Amino acid sequence: MFSPEKILQEYFGYKSFRPLQREIIEHTLSGQDSLVIMPTGGGKSICFQIPSLGLPNLTLVVSPLISLMKDQVDALHANGIKAAFYNSSLSEFEKSQLVEDCATNKLKLLYISPESLIHAVKSWLRKLPVSLLVVDEAHCVSMWGHDFRPEYQQIHHLREVFPDAPMMAVTATADKITRRDIAEKLGLRNYELFLASFQRPNLKLTVRSQIAKNKKEKEILDFVRERQGESGIYYCLSRKETEEWSNFFNSNGVSSRFYHAGMASSDREQVQDGFIKDEYNVICATIAFGMGIDKSNVRWIIHNNLPKNIEGYYQEIGRAGRDGLPSDTVLYYNYRDVVLLNDFIKDSEFKEVYQEKIKRMLYYAEASSCRRNIVLSYFGETITENCGNCDNCLEPPSMFDGTLLAQKALSAVSRSHESVGINLLIGILRGADTIEIHEKNLHKIKTYGAGKEHSFVEWQHFINQLINQGVLEIAYDQHLHLKLTDLSGEVLRGAQRINLAAYQEKKQEKKTDRKQKTTLSSDEQLLAELKNWRKQIAIENKVPAYVIFHDSTLTEIASRKPLNEKELLEIQGMGQTKFERFGSTLLEIVQAFQTVPKKDKRSTFEHTFELYEQGLNVEQIAATRQMSENTIYAHLARLYEEGKPVNLNKFVSEYDVNRVKEARKKLNNNNQLKPIFEELNGDLDYRKIGLALSILAGQA
Ligand code: ADP
Ligand code: ZN
Repeated sequence: MFSPEKILQEYFGYKSFRPLQREIIEHTLSGQDSLVIMPTGGGKSICFQIPSLGLPNLTLVVSPLISLMKDQVDALHANGIKAAFYNSSLSEFEKSQLVEDCATNKLKLLYISPESLIHAVKSWLRKLPVSLLVVDEAHCVSMWGHDFRPEYQQIHHLREVFPDAPMMAVTATADKITRRDIAEKLGLRNYELFLASFQRPNLKLTVRSQIAKNKKEKEILDFVRERQGESGIYYCLSRKETEEWSNFFNSNGVSSRFYHAGMASSDREQVQDGFIKDEYNVICATIAFGMGIDKSNVRWIIHNNLPKNIEGYYQEIGRAGRDGLPSDTVLYYNYRDVVLLNDFIKDSEFKEVYQEKIKRMLYYAEASSCRRNIVLSYFGETITENCGNCDNCLEPPSMFDGTLLAQKALSAVSRSHESVGINLLIGILRGADTIEIHEKNLHKIKTYGAGKEHSFVEWQHFINQLINQGVLEIAYDQHLHLKLTDLSGEVLRGAQRINLAAYQEKKQEKKTDRKQKTTLSSDEQLLAELKNWRKQIAIENKVPAYVIFHDSTLTEIASRKPLNEKELLEIQGMGQTKFERFGSTLLEIVQAFQTVPKKDKRSTFEHTFELYEQGLNVEQIAATRQMSENTIYAHLARLYEEGKPVNLNKFVSEYDVNRVKEARKKLNNNNQLKPIFEELNGDLDYRKIGLALSILAGQA
């Protein structure tokens, strides 16, 4: 009897289903169509991966994200599931191999790009028995979505070719019109809509508006420095900005790379790969980055500008914290962004739709109520409780009667004939003595200096709210001048009162909460060791670290410290295949960690050194210490670098050291293992490269 629960535990190492997963799986197994809408990180993949194991023939997964396919397939292999991908990156030989694997029913899942699908369906694919059709990123079929792809229009032919296979359309973002459009364009039959909650409680939402450049730079630098070693994405609107911000970070000691569609695809791949493998933590990118990335431990997202729409924004921040651990998102914006965004779309066929989306985005950014509820209501979810994890919930603004303030501002706008922008309006209200004000005769109007008691930023804060409440409007097509609205008159006449949120300087996060601590707790030390181990294995297997284990799994191991197989199997994410591959090593790491007195981190190296001095070889030291040989080699390298008399030349020849030296020179003294490994065409293993680098460091 096929049991989804059992599969979930055995292959994926999870104890229970998330909401809707079970229903979707059963619905699919009973042969019916479905439209599945779940936020990024919600757990969509399992909804079709588990049915694929219970169905007799192939499950076909159409996905536009070619760069993601290999990682998805690697992750399935790591869980012991037979899968493959078919796209333009395969050689002819690989393709024919794969066609044969399909014909002999060796695979459960086949990922395929829409371009390749069109050809494949005309030839070999149509002859195959297919049990299930999955369309991932299904919103790409709709022009109402935010990522329309013409190739998706062809997918509905699948229905004619495989009339008996149920179809599952899957997406992370779709408002109501888009949903209906997806069902129609794909030809879903009698389908059921599964709409998961868009709640992502681990994401903290913060918005910072109209911050001066130097202040913003300082804020961001502090933010990133407090999160050293944590991965994050800095999203910019333009290619130029990605490069500028990346330079800014690098020149301030934060190692960063930029990424945009104007780069050669090999360069982009390298940046993406290095990010996934934790070789560097900060990527400054346009929104082109991230679509093909399934990295579970992205800890923060910053938007340098206002995004185009809420769907895109929520998907972008959704790339943080997929492992469920707390993650930060900060959105910076100013009114110039709105001008730019409107400019982008001015010739578009769908201009009105896009304009409306920008407006909603701005409304979100300027809101003083719970931000998560605004997003959720956008996706059709109504929640009455506040989230408690957005800036407005965490530091709720206190309200006061701002009618008089509003009247002063509105009167100044009116008396200056609606021809001033925010800055100039504030200048008038505060009685600024500038050339511009005198030239335009603005010092003569009645409310000149009427708002002296408030600072510039306070006024900014108030005026933003007036705009947000519809009492003032910004003319984006007229130099950002402020205009009166229907409501303005009522406020000026005193017929309508205005409530404003008081200004409060955003408190700096308490430093002690984060990285400022100098000593690590024992859990943190063990976690660091586990991550090191994972990195090594990931490099050896040429896969991203999360394919080996998610952060959340390692975190759980570090805190529960399992002592035997049974306890280890209880950890989330520990499926049977991974347990068989890594179980004993993990138990060793945990055990070794508990036997060595951890107060002094040095002692573990000294312990190795003592044994080395007694003349034991690496294998013997590893056996004595119940550690892997790789760990012992790493200890020896570190001891060597610290000047201890360890002879590393025993493990790597002088000839090889010189090869590494040459390779490194060619790579501009890059000390990363992977580029060197590749430069040497893969014929020197990572361990030797690492040892050679230690020797070279000693010579320098
Ligand atoms: P998305 O909806 O973005 O495609 P994924 O399918 O990649 O999300 O799932 C996101 C993460 O959640 C993955 O790490 C996945 O292994 C994990 N996950 C999915 N279902 C469960 C579950 N029932 N219990 C625990 N973790 C789960
Ligand atoms: Zn909130």
